[in-house]
Amino acid sequence: MNVLVINAGSSSLKFQLLDVDTREVYAKGNCERIGIDGSFVGYESIAVEGKQKIEAPLPDHKTAMQYVIDIINATGKDFIGIGHRVVQGGWYFPESKVVTDESLGWVREVAPLAPLHNYAEADAIEVCRELFPDKGNVVVADTSFHYAIPERAHRYALPRDVVDKLHIRKYGAHGTSHRYIWRATKEFLGDDCHKLVSCHLGSGASLCAITDGRNMDTTMGLTPLDGLIMGTRCGTIDPATVCYLQRVGGYSVDEVDTMMNKQSGLLAVSGISSDSRDIELAADDGDNNARMAIEMFAYRTAQLVCEMAQANEGIDTIAFSAGIGENSSTMRAEIAKKLAWLGVKIDDEKNRVRSDKVREISAADSKIRVLVVPTNEEYMIALDVAELLG
Ligand code: ADP
Repeated sequence: MNVLVINAGSSSLKFQLLDVDTREVYAKGNCERIGIDGSFVGYESIAVEGKQKIEAPLPDHKTAMQYVIDIINATGKDFIGIGHRVVQGGWYFPESKVVTDESLGWVREVAPLAPLHNYAEADAIEVCRELFPDKGNVVVADTSFHYAIPERAHRYALPRDVVDKLHIRKYGAHGTSHRYIWRATKEFLGDDCHKLVSCHLGSGASLCAITDGRNMDTTMGLTPLDGLIMGTRCGTIDPATVCYLQRVGGYSVDEVDTMMNKQSGLLAVSGISSDSRDIELAADDGDNNARMAIEMFAYRTAQLVCEMAQANEGIDTIAFSAGIGENSSTMRAEIAKKLAWLGVKIDDEKNRVRSDKVREISAADSKIRVLVVPTNEEYMIALDVAELLG
């Protein structure tokens, strides 16, 4: 059963055509710099050999979708429906839902909680409905998996009337990835895994506490700014800092927003880059700020692993995923070192192995199993589409 998965950003549109039964990917790519000079479509497909690049003006998502259609048609594969990654599902998507006029309206209604993403995603859904009138569309929201976390974890201790009126709560993000990581970990460890701390460590990063498939807590909050230090995001800081920056620092609301989301995190601490590869190289060369960026990232991750373990009331497995989690043996080793008191011990040789498969990196005498689990949000989205439309 084939599914087309679309992941639209404000200036990009990623796509993947895959078979949910065999997990075979027939075509995948990214339309980049939509609405900006120098736009192009990069893709791979079973219809052509090697990586392809089409340089063409992409004034909007609709134009980008036309290229996607051509690429998909060239594979000769039909598909049953289209799954759309939506960053913020708000209170409307406790689970994935088929797109109707009403549910498309919900994606826009909750967009103020994720303005950079939801509007673009809603536009992309609209384009797909127009271009593929006979195909069903499904919204798979990044927040859905977190909607069931217990109230004690998702409620904010602000006045009830304010919280209710403005729908303030912990929504989290990366839910589709954490759901996949649970599934893949369980497939790998079977009955040895009940209490997992899933660590999605990319340029955006979050942890999730999962007990027997139930989501107990996550580190992102109302928005994806909360929790861990990230590439350019500050993560958790004293909320009063926001008022202080405005009152005493003289920064406007928008300036503080930009500072916290785009000028902070690893970029700010290292003063070098938001990319952990650059930071690791600089740290190897003796740069103290780069070393501090790694130290802070590892410290905060270890701290949050403990927070998530408390949410689970136990921990038997830690899974590392996404760009840093899957690729940086340095960061994994640093985090594990900080958790040694808890009985976490990784095998250095296993940690150095590079692979795109699920693998265990803990030492035989580690009290907690440690895995590297390459995430696959597209597959998870496609599974939801197959379930709702198949
Ligand atoms: P996102 O999807 O949120 O953009 P990714 O999951 O692609 O993020 O992760 C991007 C991060 O992964 C970057 O900080 C990048 O430096 C890091 N990364 C990717 N490959 C490596 C590697 N080999 N070593 C260290 N970090 C890596």
